[in-house]
Amino acid sequence: MCSVDRILKKLVDNKVIDAQNEEVIREVAKKIAFLVEEYKIPEEEAYLAIVKGLRKNTSVTYTNVSELKEDTYANIKIKVIETIPCKGKVRQRTLAGDKTGKVFVVNLSEYVLQKDKCYELTNAAVTHDKERNRIAVLITKSTKVKEINEDIDVFSENFEGLVIDVVQAGFVPVCPKCKKTLKDLTCTKHGKQDSPVEKFIAKVIADNGTRTACIMLTEQTLEKAIKMTKTDLMAVDPTMQKDIIENRLLGKYIIAKGTIGNRIFFADEITVLDSSELREMTKRLIAEAAETTEAAEAAAVPENGERAPAVRVLSLELKKACEEKREQLESLPAAKIPLKGIEVSRVLLAGIVLEGRHTKNGKALIRLADYSGDIPVFADSLHALEPLDIAAVVGKPKVINGRAVVRAEKVFRIDKDTYDFLNTSAYIYAVQRGAEVVQAVEQKFR
Ligand SMILES: [Zn+2]
Repeated sequence: MCSVDRILKKLVDNKVIDAQNEEVIREVAKKIAFLVEEYKIPEEEAYLAIVKGLRKNTSVTYTNVSELKEDTYANIKIKVIETIPCKGKVRQRTLAGDKTGKVFVVNLSEYVLQKDKCYELTNAAVTHDKERNRIAVLITKSTKVKEINEDIDVFSENFEGLVIDVVQAGFVPVCPKCKKTLKDLTCTKHGKQDSPVEKFIAKVIADNGTRTACIMLTEQTLEKAIKMTKTDLMAVDPTMQKDIIENRLLGKYIIAKGTIGNRIFFADEITVLDSSELREMTKRLIAEAAETTEAAEAAAVPENGERAPAVRVLSLELKKACEEKREQLESLPAAKIPLKGIEVSRVLLAGIVLEGRHTKNGKALIRLADYSGDIPVFADSLHALEPLDIAAVVGKPKVINGRAVVRAEKVFRIDKDTYDFLNTSAYIYAVQRGAEVVQAVEQKFR
């Protein structure tokens, strides 16, 4: 091995340069040759000179997140979307991204990355996360981390769906130092906080029938979505605040634009569809269905422990599927109902209330009629529903005494246009799945 190669190897071994970057290798090799062969500089000095030269030389090239390749070293500029606390050797795991994509960053260094801040990572190792089968970036001892002042626009995505639950809404006390939600006014890192900051937020579950998303709305997005300012809501009795937000979001069809985190979708923008937009969507759905013969996207019972989506079904399709497998399904504690082509463990039905009454055990039975027929729904209460009200039910299908029923997890009012949209999409998916619902429903589309 000649001295040029020896120095190159040392530079690569010490992670001063990236072995994969041929351009840099060629450039550096030329410089080493110049030092050791022309100027007869001893190897050790030549090595140090190169290291110093490289450090001074700021012409670092950056790789886009979407172009990261495993088993390489890369320089990237990222914005931290979410930080996930860790135990043990890994100090921290964060989800970060740039305008081209997102990546998990595994932090093995002492440096602590913060949410919403932008960083320059020099010489970060790109590996393959076997467990989760995706690329990850490692911050090791030889990675240089620098907070930068530029704001990076992170790759944004859309999620369209019906708001089926409002998990959290209103004012939440956060730590004034790290902005993390406080539990009993105590921050896990900064201890008891006497004057917490009140953050105005809502966390909702939206569902599009094949996928479900937990969407976080922060101040401005929330104000726009509920058409009410933080100040106006602050003036309201605190016990009513959540109800007001829930009333304005639950059962609404939304389009969220933002960044999907580890488990949470951080919305930068929320559009609540109005009646005419919903009618447009219904029309488009019918037109598209007429053109395509492709089956609906099947994703009903996720295996990775994620929340099962609320598959939009018509009562007739659900009843037929349950009756066919009556005996088997009745013996199961939590049934996965095999519709044609997919198994479902959670469904969404939109219907008109035919009747509602209290049952002997203090619960409620609501009979709901949709485009194809009607189905009994067991709920914790009547939810102030009266006959002819329009409602949506999200729940678990079950077979009781040989008949299909739905045990409701959530019952909420919807408007006529949402009802039409949900029934139309349930019908189209049913037809695409090959379910026999055509005759019962066809007349609705004439
Ligand atoms: Zn704190």
